[in-house]
Amino acid sequence: MKRHICALLIFFILPGVALMPAAADAAVSGGGADFKIALVRNAQKVEVSNVDYKASAGYAKIFEKKRMTKNFSSSITVANGNLYVNSKRAGANKFWLYPKKNSFVKINAKPYRGKFLVTAGAGGLTVINTVALEDYLKAVVPSEMEPNAGIEALKAQAVVARTYAIATRGKHKSAGYDLCNTTCCQVYKGVSEENAKTNRAVESTRALVILHSDKPINAYYCASCGGRTESVEEAWPGAKAVKYAKTVDCPYCAKDDKMSWKYKINQGEFVAKMRDAGFNIDGVSSAKLYDKTGSGRYNTVEMRGGFGTLYYSAEIFRRIFGNTNIRSSFFNITIDKPKIATKDFKFNRIDDIIKARNDFNNDNLNNSYITFAGSGYGHGVGMCQHGAKKMAGTGSNFRRIINYYFTKEVNVKKIY
Ligand SMILES: [Zn+2]
Ligand SMILES: [Zn+2]
Repeated sequence: MKRHICALLIFFILPGVALMPAAADAAVSGGGADFKIALVRNAQKVEVSNVDYKASAGYAKIFEKKRMTKNFSSSITVANGNLYVNSKRAGANKFWLYPKKNSFVKINAKPYRGKFLVTAGAGGLTVINTVALEDYLKAVVPSEMEPNAGIEALKAQAVVARTYAIATRGKHKSAGYDLCNTTCCQVYKGVSEENAKTNRAVESTRALVILHSDKPINAYYCASCGGRTESVEEAWPGAKAVKYAKTVDCPYCAKDDKMSWKYKINQGEFVAKMRDAGFNIDGVSSAKLYDKTGSGRYNTVEMRGGFGTLYYSAEIFRRIFGNTNIRSSFFNITIDKPKIATKDFKFNRIDDIIKARNDFNNDNLNNSYITFAGSGYGHGVGMCQHGAKKMAGTGSNFRRIINYYFTKEVNVKKIY
């Protein structure tokens, strides 16, 4: 759930504003402002099905002009920037798709609420889903928190996801949509993700948003903070400090051994991966951590070896070795010193000397390990989901959970 920092102006669009003139539009709105979410970007082919041809006039016209049967499912492709429907050139480069009553259009076999704009351009096909915020959240909440969590934790997640969506709305404005459907924004996989319990969490918190100075906050969240949450300015140097994203003790993670992790890697592999990523490094003899943040994380890693002394941002290792291996930047590093094998060096030729030296280096690299040992999962900023679940389990309601992680500086209020 890596989040980016957005300092965007936020505009509210009240439901029912002129954006929704047609009856078909009214039928697909579940409440809240309409958001444009990219489902498909730069694809060569998209399968669309279960479309209401009557409501989707532009799309239906293509079938009529080309004398094609209006099938349940159709294949949309692109070639040289032109759009094709079932291998027939469409003539138009965009069309809208609307669902049948009480049903959902499927994009690549996945049903989604709302309506869809399919466009073709030089980069390929794009499918943008226009969906009411409350409907969008029904699919987001179960993707971002397991539905078996306590209802109050799920309600906190619904309010946080709603606030986050509003605060980051327009992040991809230059590409023609508000948000994407991946961890870059929030994971959104459509109706099949929905669950009765998470839908209840969304519906019972309808329109509730976390405000600070009457503005929706950048409501960050992470899987587990590892014992202390991180302030926004220390997690992302350059980000503006805000009163609601400060370091908070999280006893729920601190006391839980399941929140700690270890990643051990052979130096040979470590060096190869670092070099692949463009860092000119060799076997590491020592590592130290610097720039301790208020939460106890370190921002800088110093590595020494035959290559000299190099400094890296702690986040670099998460990117290179995967954030499922190095789960947070809340870690320490230890290095097992290589056992130096004594060899009987007898050389006659320079090639033998080079070979022996390379063998010796490789042995050393392969017999030495670097271990990252840490706690927590994710950037550590904002609401700790593990802590939220534990708080719900001991009787805290969603408002209390939100005020704990985002401090008492924030208010939870209905905005529509
Ligand atoms: Zn995104
Ligand atoms: Zn925590």
